[in-house]
Amino acid sequence: GSRWSLKGTTALVTGGTRGIGHAVVEELAEFGATVFTCSRNEEELNKCLNEWKEKGFSVYGSVCDASSPSQREELIRQVASAFNGKLNILVNNAGTNVRKPTIEYTAEDYSKVMTTNLDSAYHLCQLAYPLLKESGNGSIVFISSVASLISVGTGSIYAVSKAAINQLTKNLACEWAKDNIRSNCVAPWYTKTSLVEQFIANKEFVDEVLSRTPIKRIAETHEVSALVTFLCLPAASYITGQTVSVDGGFTVNGFS
Ligand code: NDP
Repeated sequence: GSRWSLKGTTALVTGGTRGIGHAVVEELAEFGATVFTCSRNEEELNKCLNEWKEKGFSVYGSVCDASSPSQREELIRQVASAFNGKLNILVNNAGTNVRKPTIEYTAEDYSKVMTTNLDSAYHLCQLAYPLLKESGNGSIVFISSVASLISVGTGSIYAVSKAAINQLTKNLACEWAKDNIRSNCVAPWYTKTSLVEQFIANKEFVDEVLSRTPIKRIAETHEVSALVTFLCLPAASYITGQTVSVDGGFTVNGFS
């Protein structure tokens, strides 16, 4: 039934050319959404757009560095024009990390992580608000991380940027409910993507991660995109303000 379909809806997914964002673009499209995505690498973006076209998905895209305020404004102008001023779904996925001990971070590291992870999501919500409202039925999903909930060795700036996202999820859920816009957040643990490939290629590191993870493997991107997609469906119409972990039980594990 239509509770389990996104037919006729429009979506913007930042960072859709690789990893979790790529899986989200495909799954939203499979459920019938028309999707707009962006990334910084034009060649990779065009390659993805061609592949999606061959698969029969409706996906548009443009180059945008989500950490740049002016490029975010241009992105939303393009989305508004492609979708007649209406947007049902905003997935704030683009993110980055720099891992160091806290006292070694430079101001540049701080700015890179915060502008990419937090400023981009915050400003895109502001810019997309009129479009989400105009659609009559809006859903925002943020990609956070379990690093926003507990201390893991991913660096403190990343953790802070993602914790801010969790609270933004709650505030927007309350502030924009009157506009029929929901806001939810997905917090993954290690997922097979280019962001973490150097870490998950290290067997000793993976063994340590899995020793704390009840489901003894690293997540696949489709295991994260499934929840993102569910949160956008009409079936999730009463769910707002929530952060849900996709972590194989990692954050609920004590000791045995
Ligand atoms: P990847 O690095 O594999 O993919 C990131 C995607 O976003 C690429 O398409 C990349 O394209 C794009 N991107 C990166 N920076 C920007 C930018 N400034 N502007 C526009 N596009 C950008 O990352 P993941 O899929 O792993 O990560 C996606 C989200 O999931 C992030 O927010 C991350 O923090 C979060 N996450 C990931 C986990 C994991 O284990 N993988 C665990 C927990 C959370 P390009 O580089 O060409 O711009």
